[in-house]
Amino acid sequence: MFIGHFAASVVAKAMRPQLPFWACVGAAQLVDIVWGILVIAGVERLRLDPSLPGSPLVLEFMPYSHSLPAALLWSLLAGLLAVRLWGRAGWLIGVVVFSHWLADLLVHRPDLPLGFTGPKLGLSLWNLPALEMLVELGLLGLAMCLWVAARGKAGLAARPAIGWFGAALVLALINALPGEPLPPAGMGALALLGFAVAMAVAGVVDRADRHG
Ligand SMILES: [Zn+2]
Repeated sequence: MFIGHFAASVVAKAMRPQLPFWACVGAAQLVDIVWGILVIAGVERLRLDPSLPGSPLVLEFMPYSHSLPAALLWSLLAGLLAVRLWGRAGWLIGVVVFSHWLADLLVHRPDLPLGFTGPKLGLSLWNLPALEMLVELGLLGLAMCLWVAARGKAGLAARPAIGWFGAALVLALINALPGEPLPPAGMGALALLGFAVAMAVAGVVDRADRHG
């Protein structure tokens, strides 16, 4: 799952417009940001198996980013930090961070450790790539409708939000393009670059909203 995670960011922003959108976007991918850094550092491990349907990722070892206890800890830390920065609405940032693990549970093959290293869970929607993509796009599309409606009520233009949605779709398209398989560190770096772009464009939406 890539852009589907952002559905939680968009719903959080629609519910609590005082939260910066860039933070909502980063929160949905915090677990994968940690994963990208640890993969580059050689701490967490993956390999690619192009014979698999859908995502070729075989995520062999990722206890610090994607185990249930780690995801809960990252959610708690992010939530506490967000409450400090933005007041009580910040708790929603923690919820968005945890939504990543739940969405991964739906799509991953069994690679998400329930404890630190196992037993591993995953409902394997990746094995049905067309349906998986439909679920991702459907979730984000629905969330966008909610957000655009909430923006309309608050007197904010739809355009910045739609612009971010367009950028997210372009990132998803690039992500889905077939290409030469990258080494693990390259996969981690590419993921971090994608998240940085999504957060930067979200920051543009924040600016546009501030300046009306
Ligand atoms: Zn993930």
